Amino acid sequence: MKRFRNILVAVLLGTATIVSAQTREFAIAIHGGAGTIENPEKNPERARLYYAALDSALVIGYDLLAVGVEGPQVVMAVVNYLEDNPLFNAGKGATCTFDGTFELDAAIMEGKDLTAGAVAGVKTVKNPINAAYAVKTNTEHVMLSGPGADDFAAGQGLEIVENSYFISPRTMEWVEKLKLESKKNGTVGCVVLDFYGNLTAGTSTGGMFKKKWGRIGNAPVIGAGTYADNETCAISCTGHGEYFIRHAVAFNVSARMKYLNEPLPVASDYIINTILNINTILNADAGNGGLIAVDKEGTIALPFNSTGMYRGYLYKEKEIGAVVKEVGIGPEMVTW
Ligand code: ASP
Repeated sequence: MKRFRNILVAVLLGTATIVSAQTREFAIAIHGGAGTIENPEKNPERARLYYAALDSALVIGYDLLAVGVEGPQVVMAVVNYLEDNPLFNAGKGATCTFDGTFELDAAIMEGKDLTAGAVAGVKTVKNPINAAYAVKTNTEHVMLSGPGADDFAAGQGLEIVENSYFISPRTMEWVEKLKLESKKNGTVGCVVLDFYGNLTAGTSTGGMFKKKWGRIGNAPVIGAGTYADNETCAISCTGHGEYFIRHAVAFNVSARMKYLNEPLPVASDYIINTILNINTILNADAGNGGLIAVDKEGTIALPFNSTGMYRGYLYKEKEIGAVVKEVGIGPEMVTW
C-alpha cells in the first residue's frame, strides 16, 4: 500500500504539471525555456533531440545528487550542460540582440542562507551561471553587469570566449531575419533539493530576441527569475521577462507559500495561470511563460501558460528508493 501511496501522481491542471507532495531524498527539476517546437508531432526528430537533451541534463543531476554533491554544484553542472547545448537559448545557441550580438544573463541562489549571485549582459563568459556563482561566493555584491562582469569573470579564471562563440546555425538564421517578427525561447534553469535538505535555484539565458539598449531580463533578477528559500521553495522562471519582473514572479510564489501557507503547486499555478494570464488576455504575447520549482519536501511544480515548456524532473523517494523521471515539451510528460 505504501508503495502505491508513494507513487508519483502527475496531475494535469490546465497546462500545469503538478507532482504530489511526498518526502524525497533529493529532487531536481529543469527547464529549457517556455514555448515549444512548432508541431512536435510533425517534427519527431527535433522533439527527440530535446527529449534526449533534457534527459541527459537530469542524468547529470542525478549522478551528482546520488553521491551527495551539494545543490549549487549540481545546478551549475546541469546548467553548464544546457548552456553548452546549442538547442537552448543560453550560452552557445543564445538568442541575439537587435545588433546581432550576444548579451547573456544568469543567476544562482541558495535557500539555506539566501545568498545569491548574478551577472547581466555579459558578452564573453562561456558559462554565465559560473560567473553568477563566483559573484555570490567571492564578492560582497549580488549582481554585476556589462564589461565589469566580464572582467570579473576573467579575473576569476573562468573560461572566456569571443562573442562569436555563442553563434549557432540557428541563431544565424535569426540574424538573417532580424526584420521579421521572430523570437527564440530556450532559457535554461535548474532547481534542486539536495541530500542535505537545501534548496538551490539557477537560471541562464541569452534573453529575448532582438533586445535593445543593454536590456536585462528577469533571469538574473533575484525574485523575478530566480529565487530560493529553504523555508519555501527554489524557483527558476522562463518567459516574457518584463512581466516576470513586474510581478516579481519567483518571490511572489515563495511569499504566497510563506505568508498564506499555500502549497507550492497552488501558489505557482496561481501566479502563472491567473496573475500572468491577465496580461496574456490583453496581449497574446505578454505574460507568457512558466517556471520550475521544488519545495523542501521535494514536491515539484512545473506550471506554464505558454504553448509548451521544455522541462523535466527527477526525484528519489526516501523510503523505497524508487527513482521517478519524466520530461516534457508540450502538455504531456513522458518517461524517456
Ligand atoms: N525570461 C527571459 C528574458 O526575458 C527569456 C526567456 O525565458 O525566454 O530574458
